[in-house]
Amino acid sequence: MAENLTIIEHPLVQHKLSLMRRETTSTAKFRSLMTEISMLLAYEVTRDLPLRYETIQTPMAEMEAPVLAADKKLVVVSIMRAGQGILDGILQLIPSARVGHVGIYREPHSLVPIEYYFKVPDDTEERDMLVVDPMMATGNSAIAAVDRLKQTNPRSIKFLCILAAPEGIRHFQEHHPEIPIYTAAIDQGLDEHGYIIPGLGDAGDRLFGTK
Ligand code: URA
Repeated sequence: MAENLTIIEHPLVQHKLSLMRRETTSTAKFRSLMTEISMLLAYEVTRDLPLRYETIQTPMAEMEAPVLAADKKLVVVSIMRAGQGILDGILQLIPSARVGHVGIYREPHSLVPIEYYFKVPDDTEERDMLVVDPMMATGNSAIAAVDRLKQTNPRSIKFLCILAAPEGIRHFQEHHPEIPIYTAAIDQGLDEHGYIIPGLGDAGDRLFGTK
């Protein structure tokens, strides 16, 4: 399991995650925490982004300054609807990233994922993809989303979540062992409805104030 799996243990990430988990945390607070934690996680996930050098003029002198080489080539794909929370945070850090959406819901009895929306930029062959969904529970949605995204032949794919269950990670890695997973924590397991325990509840409901 340890291969291709990064747990981001930074104290700020862990603190914000604990605030998100609390059932008394309001929708507004949950939403802002999701943005903040996503920015911190994105910092780690984008550690290997290539740089190029550009001649700039500071108030004091000319210099060769490092800038992102391929920020417009990054596509962040949100698994709807809770992925939107992570997407918002990442776009604050990398506003020029392109965006894709995959709509998948879990059939409540079988927990089988059903695709209802799919839109990604053209020319994904030239793009690095970061797929985001706050919760990797059974792993079914993540697997289905990545199965579908692989059909567009992106240059690379990484998967970013906030919380994962061990079952979900195992399941995902059986299907997509080469795809790096980044998460802030791995919880105990799943309940009979496929929710992560102790988890934080339904990330979409908590983000959007629905029930
Ligand atoms: N999706 C959620 O939003 N929460 C879980 O615990 C599992 C899946």
